[in-house]
Amino acid sequence: MKALLNLFLKPNCPLCNRPANTELCDYCQRQLLRCRFPQGTKFATEIPLCVWGQYKDVLKRAIAALKYNHHTELAKPLGYGLAETWLSTPREMSSVTVVPIPLHVAKLKKRGFNQAELLAKSFCEITGLSLVAHGLERIKETEALHELSPEQRFKKMQSVFNLGQDFRRRRPPGSVLILDDIYTTGATVKAAIDQFQHAKIPVAGVVAIATTQKSVISKSKKSRE
Ligand SMILES: [Zn+2]
Repeated sequence: MKALLNLFLKPNCPLCNRPANTELCDYCQRQLLRCRFPQGTKFATEIPLCVWGQYKDVLKRAIAALKYNHHTELAKPLGYGLAETWLSTPREMSSVTVVPIPLHVAKLKKRGFNQAELLAKSFCEITGLSLVAHGLERIKETEALHELSPEQRFKKMQSVFNLGQDFRRRRPPGSVLILDDIYTTGATVKAAIDQFQHAKIPVAGVVAIATTQKSVISKSKKSRE
C-alpha cells in the first residue's frame, strides 16, 4: 500500500516524466552516468581543474532543467557526483573554502537562485568543506558569451567580478575552490581567479559539473584557460 501511495506522491522524473524513486528515474540516471569522464581525468590548466562530465545529452538536459525550469532538486545528484569525483582525485584538502561563481544581481532576481550555489551546497555536504556563497560578486552582466570568440570572451570578462561581501568582511583562512556549473573556454573562471589573485587569496582549484571540452587536453597544448 505504501509503495502504491509513493507512486502517486513522488514527482516524476523532470527529464522524461517516468516515475522516479530519486531526483531522476533509473533510465536517466544511467544515461547521466554515460556523460561522466573516467575518474581522475586531468585537464592541462594552470590551476587544477576537476570536471564531472561532458556537456552533452542527459547531463546537458539536467543542467538546463536545473537552471531554466526550476528543477533545483537536480543540484543534489549533480553536486554529489562532482564531490565524489573530486574526492577521488589528488587534491588540496586543508582549509579549503568553496566559492560558487555568482550571478549578476539582476539575473539572480530573475532566476530566483544561483545554480552554482545550490551545486556548491550539495558538493560541500559530501566533501565536508565550508561554503562561502558570497566570496565573489558579479558586477558586470555578461550575456551570450557562446557567440563570442575566445579572445572576445576574455576581453569581455575583464573586471566582471569583485571580491564579495563575505570575503570583504573576513578573508578565507586558507585557499578557495571555485565551483561553476559549466566550464567552456574558462574565461569566467579565469576572471574569478584573477580577482582572487589580485586580493592575494590562493586558489586551490576549480570544479565544474560539465565541460564542452572533449576530454583530456594534451600537455603540449598549453592552455591559458
Ligand atoms: Zn527520466
